[in-house]
Amino acid sequence: MTSLIKAENIKFSYNGTPAVAGVNFELLEKDFLAIIGPNGSGKSTLLRLISGFLAPSEGSAGLLGRNVRAYPKAELARLIAYVPSELYVPYDFSVFEIVLMGRSPYVAWWRNYSEADTIRVLEILRKVGIPDLKDRSVNSLSSGERQLTFIAQALAQDPKLLLLDEPTSHLDINYKIQIFELLARLASTGGMGVAVVSHDLALLSAYAGKALILKKGGQVFYGPAEEGLSGVNIASAYGIRDAGSIARLLPHMVNRGKMA
Ligand code: ADP
Ligand code: MG
Repeated sequence: MTSLIKAENIKFSYNGTPAVAGVNFELLEKDFLAIIGPNGSGKSTLLRLISGFLAPSEGSAGLLGRNVRAYPKAELARLIAYVPSELYVPYDFSVFEIVLMGRSPYVAWWRNYSEADTIRVLEILRKVGIPDLKDRSVNSLSSGERQLTFIAQALAQDPKLLLLDEPTSHLDINYKIQIFELLARLASTGGMGVAVVSHDLALLSAYAGKALILKKGGQVFYGPAEEGLSGVNIASAYGIRDAGSIARLLPHMVNRGKMA
């Protein structure tokens, strides 16, 4: 399987304060990677580093064997789609327009969006389950509807690699399942690499194949999700003293690791 992302000993500080350090992992085609860790452990910063938005102070983020920062912007946008956790839209675009913007890396300077782009957008709106929102103004949407709109925009980029920062935080359980099903399908049958930062541990443990666990200033675990998303690891990563609470809340995860 082709290696999409290779993160080697990545380090990054904001004004001298380390936010990410010693991060090592690899993302292959068809991988569904769960990125977890407590608030402030550097998950969002890591996504900005591997999408090429920020440059590491040490180490490197490689995309298809080449430094991610070395790619021209349009080429990068055809390879990576990144959905940030804060979705702010300054102007009043419609859902259709926002998703259509995802096609811009495929639009040459001498022409506008084509009929094929429109067809692709309508297809994706259906896939994400929001065809009825097409003409709504994006600023009139609920937080959940806005999340679905930006997931659709990312899919419209037809990327090799999909990076999502808490994409289901505002979604109801039905949409959460639909989105995770869709992401898992894009990875397994679409051949995409998918990395998701999320606090939906139960969903991650059901769908992710690999896990990366961060803590403030470092990395706790990288490997099979089966092993990483265990009760012990979760309790230790988040500093949960009452390990029994995980047994009560996420019973299916407990058997994965040896609970004390
Ligand atoms: P997470 O997504 O895991 O909650 P972040 O990557 O957002 O963590 O943040 C990691 C650390 O870097 C935190 O201590 C946060 O306060 C800090 N940080 C994040 N963004 C900035 C920024 N733009 N300027 C300064 N510090 C930041
Ligand atoms: Mg974050």
